[in-house]
Amino acid sequence: MSCLFCKIANKEIDSKIVYEDEFSIAFLDINPSQKGHLLVIPKKHYQNLTEVPEEEITKLFETVKKMTILLEEKLNVSSFNIGWNHGEDAGQVINHLHIHIIPRYPNDGGGSMQTIVETGDDNLEETYQKLK
Ligand code: 5GP
Ligand code: ZN
Repeated sequence: MSCLFCKIANKEIDSKIVYEDEFSIAFLDINPSQKGHLLVIPKKHYQNLTEVPEEEITKLFETVKKMTILLEEKLNVSSFNIGWNHGEDAGQVINHLHIHIIPRYPNDGGGSMQTIVETGDDNLEETYQKLK
């Protein structure tokens, strides 16, 4: 098994694990974007959300909620960007689904989720017709 996050889940590689249950594990990002930056992963290897069975999605997001509350309580923070990079074009480097929980502090200089890309859509109506 060559996946780095599988190795972290299996404790073959050291990480700063703050929570673990049957389905998921949460640990500090080694290169945090902000103080308290956590990664939540399913223990099983799934590349992205579309591969995860419904029951495990529920469990995974229970952990995301728990970790958000943990950060609120222990680091006294109330704002977060929570999400994941899905696919190479979106910046996914490690192909094992991981949800980033990035605490945000007053005037920390960061932007919102929407500032990741700001190309826009010059044909919103056409997009709507395709998707609805
Ligand atoms: P991605 O761009 O794939 O969404 O993010 C991968 C994240 O994993 C990055 O934020 C990076 O800092 C983190 N990371 C990479 N290698 C390790 C590691 O060995 N241990 C930990 N704890 N985090 C890692
Ligand atoms: Zn993996």
